[in-house]
Amino acid sequence: MSTLFSQIIAREIPADIVYEDDQVLAFHDINPQAPTHILIIPKKPIATLNDLTEEDQALVGRLPLVAARLARQFGFADDGYRVVMNCNDDGGQTVYHIHMHLMGGRRFTWPAG
Ligand code: C5P
Repeated sequence: MSTLFSQIIAREIPADIVYEDDQVLAFHDINPQAPTHILIIPKKPIATLNDLTEEDQALVGRLPLVAARLARQFGFADDGYRVVMNCNDDGGQTVYHIHMHLMGGRRFTWPAG
């Protein structure tokens, strides 16, 4: 099923894109929870973490690599940052196209709410 993120990949709806390669897209979250809040998504539409297969291993491995690259680019790599992937309802997932949240620019608490 198509999601908003497929529409962002297809440039059918606008997003503030900060990174793109042949497999991955990253853009600012429309409702930021930190001074910098970026979503990093595979272009392949995988609904949830539960839907990953072995063949997705390299693709999903790109997501934290891109997160670290963007953390350096946005200047908070050394101070620290939070990455989150929510899965299904109890996990707080609202868009069913897997994505990694990259949040930086403030101090985070643990455990997450
Ligand atoms: O992990 P979860 O599925 O809740 O995250 C979805 C994220 O997508 C939210 O943080 C929401 O603000 C963001 N979003 C967005 N642009 C849209 C729709 C949702 O950045 N057009």
